[in-house]
Amino acid sequence: MKTFTCACGNRLHFENNRCLVCERTLGFLPGLQVLSALEPAAEGGWRALADGGHYHQCVNYSRYNVCNWMVPAQTGKKFCVSCQLNRIIPNLSVRRNLTLWARIETAKRRLLYTLIQLGLPIVDRGADPKRGLAFEFMEDPQQEDEFSNAVTPQQQVITGHRTGIITINIMEASSSERERMREKMNERYRTLLGHFRHEIGHYYWERLVRPSAWLEEFHALFGDEQRKYQAALQRYYNAGPPPDWQKHYVSAYASAHPWEDWAESWAHYLHMTDTLETAEDYGFRMSTGQGERFEKLMTDWSELSVALNDLNRSMGLGDAYPFVLSGRAVEKLHFIHRLIQERGQP
Ligand SMILES: [Zn+2]
Ligand SMILES: [Zn+2]
Ligand SMILES: [Zn+2]
Repeated sequence: MKTFTCACGNRLHFENNRCLVCERTLGFLPGLQVLSALEPAAEGGWRALADGGHYHQCVNYSRYNVCNWMVPAQTGKKFCVSCQLNRIIPNLSVRRNLTLWARIETAKRRLLYTLIQLGLPIVDRGADPKRGLAFEFMEDPQQEDEFSNAVTPQQQVITGHRTGIITINIMEASSSERERMREKMNERYRTLLGHFRHEIGHYYWERLVRPSAWLEEFHALFGDEQRKYQAALQRYYNAGPPPDWQKHYVSAYASAHPWEDWAESWAHYLHMTDTLETAEDYGFRMSTGQGERFEKLMTDWSELSVALNDLNRSMGLGDAYPFVLSGRAVEKLHFIHRLIQERGQP
């Protein structure tokens, strides 16, 4: 993620909606991938100082302040390119849900920023009613203060992907609940952004890998996805990962099934590219090593992730990137890198 510069010269961050120095209202222009200072224009619209264009705020910005993206005025659309992908949003008559929803939207916009940056196709449900992308942010039924204790497993909202629809259980936006789940599932890393990056991996597998010449190489690297999925997950939850999983997989969960291996590896690729972009934006000196772009990416990442973890420890925090990438895991990342190079249109 880059930082941006206000018309007054102040450094701006992706999530900002107001400049703390000049107090201008801000809005992100997805077409330009730029956070811009705004000036009020006629009929409640805004003029973006970055390009002089006329915009209005996404309805989720003007009404709920859970978004900071803009819509070009001439499109006549109400929602920004991120919010128009929503199919179900949380029940806002429950007070707490607005806060949870805001966190969810923030993570989703970060995901979309990277997808746009990589030039990956984002085909929504309107354009492709059967397989297009849509999001559902849902909560377990009969939720009380203590989460889901009274809810039977069948009624629980499962975070996951099915043919283009990504469902997120909104309790993943509650840090205490997410931490509880992380411990219960014995995971090293569990974040909202991580969920988005994982689930979108399933979406791109169906879009870019399944119907393509890449499928054969996918089988060689990740295995046969025809393996019974539900049974494989059940086996993973009952017995855990194989003892030598680190040799083959980026995470323990990746060992559950080739689809999960793919989605976990995909998420790691997005973690890496976004974090490296941030470091570069702040002027951290990266490896000067020449060579192929992927090699450079991996060298930079191994240096940066070690430094990142050490910085966290200096602050008494856990590792930011609690993973070790084996040679096999790197091969899988290389496959994803090549696929994105071919299919992305930056
Ligand atoms: Zn400013
Ligand atoms: Zn929006
Ligand atoms: Zn998955």
